[in-house]
Amino acid sequence: MSGGSLKRNLAYVAVLGACIVVGTLAGWLGSRIDNYAYDTLTRVTPSNVRPPQSVVVAIDEETLGAEGGMRKIRPILTDALFQLAAVRPKTVALDVILSDKGDEAEDARLEAALRGTQNLILPCELIGDAASSGTTSKWEDPLPRFASSAVALGHVHPEQDRADGVSREVSLEETGLSATDKGSPLSIRRWALSLEAFRVFQGQEITESPQDLQIGTTTIPAARGDRGRAMLVRYLQAGVPIVSATKIRDNAAMLEGKAVFLGVTALSAARDRLVNPYGENVPGVAVHAHAFETMAGGKFLQAASNVNVLGVSLLYAAVAGVAFALLAGWMSYAVAIALLLFAHALPVMLFRQGAVFPYFGPVAVAWLSCAAAATFQVFFVRRQLSRSESEKSRYQQAIHWAAHEMRTPLTAIQGSSEIMTNYALPEAKQKQLSEMINSESKRLARLIQTFLDVERLADGHMEIKREEFTAASVVDTCMTRVKPLAERKGIALTLDSPVEGTLVGDRELMEYAFYNLLTNAVKYSPADTHVRVTADARGTDLRLSVQDQGIGMDAKELKSIFQKFYRTKKAEASGEVGTGIGLSIVEQIVTSHSGRMEVTSEPGKGSCFTMVLKRHS
Ligand code: ADP
Repeated sequence: MSGGSLKRNLAYVAVLGACIVVGTLAGWLGSRIDNYAYDTLTRVTPSNVRPPQSVVVAIDEETLGAEGGMRKIRPILTDALFQLAAVRPKTVALDVILSDKGDEAEDARLEAALRGTQNLILPCELIGDAASSGTTSKWEDPLPRFASSAVALGHVHPEQDRADGVSREVSLEETGLSATDKGSPLSIRRWALSLEAFRVFQGQEITESPQDLQIGTTTIPAARGDRGRAMLVRYLQAGVPIVSATKIRDNAAMLEGKAVFLGVTALSAARDRLVNPYGENVPGVAVHAHAFETMAGGKFLQAASNVNVLGVSLLYAAVAGVAFALLAGWMSYAVAIALLLFAHALPVMLFRQGAVFPYFGPVAVAWLSCAAAATFQVFFVRRQLSRSESEKSRYQQAIHWAAHEMRTPLTAIQGSSEIMTNYALPEAKQKQLSEMINSESKRLARLIQTFLDVERLADGHMEIKREEFTAASVVDTCMTRVKPLAERKGIALTLDSPVEGTLVGDRELMEYAFYNLLTNAVKYSPADTHVRVTADARGTDLRLSVQDQGIGMDAKELKSIFQKFYRTKKAEASGEVGTGIGLSIVEQIVTSHSGRMEVTSEPGKGSCFTMVLKRHS
């Protein structure tokens, strides 16, 4: 993998990672949407069709009206309990708090009614500000005279979603302080009223583990978390049967052997009316009955763990990422659409299996990942296209350059051979011409080699030779080769100081580079000027400079001369042929030898090109 594609792949993964983070954060913020999805799923997923085991005996408007309102709640309860005893329900759970002293005669009758009730569960409540924190709140229990008749006390703490007030779960255990005979209060844990009713109904004990509660063959998945042990209530769509407290005797058959939840349902009096996921108003006593039915039905809903949710989000991002990276065109979009459909369907499928999987976060991750991956790849393809186009034009220019450079030796060869065939020449002249043909064709061969090398150098595929050679030999060869050119323009070419030092690298390429600087100096200088070559060995560096008195360049032009095919206006106007590729190759050669180029120039005064190279010690 090349550096560029590694970087690109890392950027791609980073973009997808950002999608996971943003989607997951959005998921937390979007808990309202998750709740909405939960309620909708509750509505469309059939709840258990088993006949209910519980009945709500309702102290409704009619009951209150007949007996004199909430003031008479204790006589009403007494009456209902006596009637219930006659129809023999299996358990009776009361959802009326009996912690205050009332009228003595009334309380005495109630006490007797409670004593006559089989398997009685009485409610208790947490009071204090932090009713749910459990540490500062206290238990408000029924008066001891009532409590003594109960087989258990169960808390009636209503669990409402803070965001939208819908009751979706019950807290199965709560802890609070309870006064003891010895004075200092004791921290006591109480099970929920519905759980106690279920336990007594089953005639079993509760075996608890941090993960769940076991009652007989029923395992309630209610792991202990920061909100106690929460259990999602599967509200029965048809509701729990309700019998008015005034009609207990009429419904004896319906009540026998059942778990009865006795409480106030009258709108005017019930202090705990809640809304269930169906959007219906339910009195607190019915919520306990629904929670009981959830346990009795044995089909529990369990929220997916954060780790699982994150894992699925990761998977979505990975699928989107791989699809757009590896598949072409419509195939990647087909996968993306399938992924999105799956992301939307997964919560529904899992809900049917009893797992509550958040809707918004993972779906947001899927959408974001698909959009980001598609955008990223579209941009990448476009960039690659423009790069390959510029590569094409670069290649064309390179061919142009090669053709141009080859023309000189070819003209010489052609001219010499024509002279040799057309004229009878003296032997000495013939020898001179054939030597010229030989040397020019060798130069041509070298040129082709250099061209190929340079192309490979530009591609980064070039393996640079590592041979040792003296800097002096390079300078010498190049100066000898340029001398005739300089002389033709009346330009003096001098070497100021002896060249010292050995270089390691590709001698051919180094010669090509230095020769280029010399020809440029001659090319872009007027007649009768001076081109000076200096060599300066400083520490590990060797500085080879070519200084001319030519047309020069301004600071802006200086910045561009190493770009391929760049030519200054002055150079164009000078009438000197050029392609603007030479210096870019020079720079490549020098940097591939761990060196660098330095240029100073002033328009109209001249330029100085310096190759700063590493000396071989
Ligand atoms: P070419 O000489 O074929 O145009 P080069 O890559 O060798 O291409 O040089 C690029 C440009 O840099 C030249 O066209 C010219 O404008 C400028 N240049 C190079 N050397 C000199 C110089 N010694 N003096 C002035 N301008 C120069």
